[in-house]
Amino acid sequence: MIQVQAVGFAIYEKMQNKQLRTYWQLAIMSNSKRQCRNCKERFRPSEGIITSNNIALCSLECLTLLAIKKGIQSRPKLIKAAEKAIKDDTRKRKKALITRSKWYATLQKLINQYIVRVRDKEKPCFTCGTTSQNIKYDCGHYIHAGRGGADRRRFLFINLHKQCSMQCNQFGGGMPEVYAQKIIEVYGAKKLEWLKCEANHPTLKELFPHWSDIENEIIRYRKLLRNNGLTPVS
Ligand SMILES: [Zn+2]
Ligand SMILES: [Zn+2]
Repeated sequence: MIQVQAVGFAIYEKMQNKQLRTYWQLAIMSNSKRQCRNCKERFRPSEGIITSNNIALCSLECLTLLAIKKGIQSRPKLIKAAEKAIKDDTRKRKKALITRSKWYATLQKLINQYIVRVRDKEKPCFTCGTTSQNIKYDCGHYIHAGRGGADRRRFLFINLHKQCSMQCNQFGGGMPEVYAQKIIEVYGAKKLEWLKCEANHPTLKELFPHWSDIENEIIRYRKLLRNNGLTPVS
C-alpha cells in the first residue's frame, strides 16, 4: 500500500506540469456516470480517467492498483502505464472537442486536392476549358458549402470539379451558369436537378454520425493521395 501511495504521488507530481494539468481542465461533455474498474464506485468521467481501451478508473490510485493487479509491479512501469493512459485519454478528449466545422474543413481540403490532382488531373478547367500549365487550379463547387459549411453536397463528387483559380473560380465566382451547363453535358439534366434538390441528399450529420466517421474518411483520403504519389495538404 505504501508503494502504491508513493507511485500515486509520483504520478500526481508529474501531473503538476502544464501538459498534464490541461487534461483536468478539458471540458467534459458526458455526464453519464461510469463504474470504476477497480473499486466499482460510480463516478463522472470528468472526475476520473478513461483509458484508450475504454477502461474507466475513478482515480490515479485505482489506476495504479489495477495495474498492480494486472501484474505491472515496478514503479517506473506503473508511472509509464499511468502516463500512457492519461495521454491517450487527453488525446481522445481533445479530438472530441474539435468542432465539426474543423473536421469538415480538413476533409474538404483533402477531397479538393484529390479532385484537382488525381481525378481531374488530365482534365481542363471544367468551366472555361483552359489547360494552361502555368496557372493555379482549384476544386470548384457548383453548390457552395454555404454558411457554416453545412451544405450537405459539399463532398459530393458531381458537385466538385477542377477549375482555374483566377479566371473561373475567383473572378467568375465559380461561373455557376456555365457550370450548370457542363453538368448537363457530362452527367445529364436529370442529374443536375437531382443535385440541386437538397432533400435528395443526406445531411452531413447523417453521413458522419460521429466525428470519428469524419476522421476515418480523412484517413482514407490521406492514404489515397499518398498512393498517388502526393503529400496530403492537411
Ligand atoms: Zn476506483
Ligand atoms: Zn476556367
